[in-house]
This record gives sequence, structure tokens and C-alpha cells, in this order.
Amino acid sequence: MRMTNYHTHTTRCKHAVNTDEEYVQAAIEAGYQVFGFADHCPWPYKNGFASNIRMDVEQLDEYLESIARLKKKYASQITLYAGLECEYYPDYMDWLKKTLAEKPIDYVIFGSHHDLTDDGGMYFGGSNKPEHVRLYTQRTIEGMRTGVFAYLAHPDLVMRGYHQFDDTCVEMAYAICRTAKEMDMPLEYNLTGVENKRLTGLRWKGIGYPDDHFWQIAAELKCTAIIGLDSHRADHVLETRDYEDAVAYLDGLGIHRVDTIRMNPAAAG
Ligand SMILES: [Zn+2]
Ligand SMILES: [Zn+2]
Repeated sequence: MRMTNYHTHTTRCKHAVNTDEEYVQAAIEAGYQVFGFADHCPWPYKNGFASNIRMDVEQLDEYLESIARLKKKYASQITLYAGLECEYYPDYMDWLKKTLAEKPIDYVIFGSHHDLTDDGGMYFGGSNKPEHVRLYTQRTIEGMRTGVFAYLAHPDLVMRGYHQFDDTCVEMAYAICRTAKEMDMPLEYNLTGVENKRLTGLRWKGIGYPDDHFWQIAAELKCTAIIGLDSHRADHVLETRDYEDAVAYLDGLGIHRVDTIRMNPAAAG
């Protein structure tokens, strides 16, 4: 069975460790055939805001060059990609589209982390009221509908801070899964979430993700799933047990799993 991952971070995001090459070497050792980087997207903030959870715009070319170098160096052993994990920030979507047309960015995945911008917008992982869940639902669907994103990362992120899978969460799951189905967009089963629930779950205020209720609804609506590591350290890539468990879990739900994603046409070749 092919092992693929399109969700890996680098130190440029200021909350990951290890060199780009160490991630690649770990991926080869773990047995991945396809391994994509999707570091947190830089945004050209107005008012000079500097985010401490993503690379700066000036680092984007160096990031892409570093992965391009590794693609060549390890071409006989593994297929590598250079993507980005981006939010839906309406004010900056034109910038993102222009950047995708101009630079060799292989794909963009959607991490619906913040409302409108992280320069003051709420962090959806801290949601603890029904209105937060509703806002997450609304913004996530708006973002999915832009058609820019290859897949939705941790679609159940909102459960990180939320205490139970109540009626508002049921509505959230149906709305997001219906949109994913309509847009033919895979939903990511996030293995950093799996690890966090297992090791540091108590640090989270909510029930965490991936959440079983959410995935049962995804299966019921016949959505497609994709496994994503979301690694922020190279040794996480070596934890293949979680990957195997995820395959078994998703198979058990009868949900169709994909291992290819929609690439940025401008980056082809
Ligand atoms: Zn991160
Ligand atoms: Zn991520």
C-alpha cells in the first residue's frame, strides 16, 4: 500500500524543529513514497503585523528553493512536493492567487485556523461557545468554496477547545461534509491531532480531533478522506503505527481514502 503525506512543516513557521532534509530522510526511512511540505503560508499583512506562527513573505522563495533542491537530490527514493497550508483570509486571497500563478507552489491545503486574519481574528482551536462553532462552520465553508484549496486540513479542528459534540457540532459536521462532497474535496484525518489526544490531550480544553462523531458523519455523506501528518518535528514522521491505525479506522468506517490531490496547474512540470 502506498504511503503518502502532504502536510509537513518546517522551522520557518517558528514552531517546528529539524531541517528540511531531516524530514525527507525520516520520510524515506518510514516508507513514504510521496511526501509533501505544506508549511504555514506567509501573508502580506497590512499595518506591518508580524505573525509568530508562519514564515515571512520574504522567506517564501528560499523555502521553495530548499524543497526543490531536495526533490532533485532524493528523486530516486521519494517524490517530494512543496506546498503551503493557508487560511481563508478574504483580504489576502487575491495575493494568494497571484502568488500561486507566479511561483512553483505545488498545491495549497486549507487550514481554517483563524477568523478573517490572525492579526486580531479569533483562533478557531480555542472555540468554547456554540457561536464560535457556527462562525468556524461559516468561514470554513466560504474558504472551501473559493476553489483554491486541494483539501481541508483537520476539518474538526474546532473540537480542540469545545467540550462535547453537541447539536451545534452535528450541524457543523453535516455542513462541512456536504460542502466537501459538493466540491469533491478530501477531508484530512490529522495525525498530529491523534498524537495530541493520546499524549497531551489534557492540555486541550475540548474533546480534541480527529473526532469520531465527525468522521461517522463524513462516512455517512460519502466524503473522501486523506491522511495527513501535520508534522512539526522529524521524528513524528517515523510514527507509522498511527498511520496504520488511521488506515484501519477509515477502512472500518467504509470511507473512501485518497492519496493524490489536486495540484496547482501553474506549478506543473
Ligand atoms: Zn503549525
Ligand atoms: Zn499544519
